[in-house]
Amino acid sequence: MMVQLSSLDFKPKPIDRDFLSKPDEFPVNGEHVGHAVRAQGTQRPDMDGAPYPTKLGIHGTEVGVDWDCCIADGACLDVCPTQVYEWALNPGQIGTGNDHKIEKDSDEWNTYRTDKTDMIREKDCIYCMACETVCPVQAIKITPP
Ligand code: SF4
Repeated sequence: MMVQLSSLDFKPKPIDRDFLSKPDEFPVNGEHVGHAVRAQGTQRPDMDGAPYPTKLGIHGTEVGVDWDCCIADGACLDVCPTQVYEWALNPGQIGTGNDHKIEKDSDEWNTYRTDKTDMIREKDCIYCMACETVCPVQAIKITPP
C-alpha cells in the first residue's frame, strides 16, 4: 500500500528543478551510499509554506530526489529500466508496496515520515525520464550530464 497523502502531516512540494545551480540554497553537505546530499539539516517549506517536519534534503545529482517531498509512492522503482533505485529503509528491496513501514511517532517517523527512494546505482541512469514523469508528487529531477 502506498502512503496516503491524507495520513501525512505535510504537503509535498515539487523538487526545485534548479537545485544544481543554487549552491547557496542547496550546498553539498552530505554523502549517502555513493551519492551527494544537498541541504541536509536545513529547514525548508512544504507546499503550504509550513516547515517540512523532516530535514533530509535532496539526494543525488544527475538523479535528484527531494527526500522531504518523497512519500514512498514507489512508482519510480517500478519503472526504472536499470534499477537505479532501492528503498532507503528496506535495502535490497524495490517496487511499490515494498517500502519499510514506519510506526507513527517512532524515531523513524520523526526522522523520515516515510521510506525514501534511494538512487544507489545513480551511475546506471540512462536518462529515460520515466521516474521523473511518473512521480505523483514531482519529487524527482533528472539532469543528464
Ligand atoms: S531517468 Fe530512467 S534510468 Fe534514470 S533513474 Fe529515472 S527511470 Fe531510472
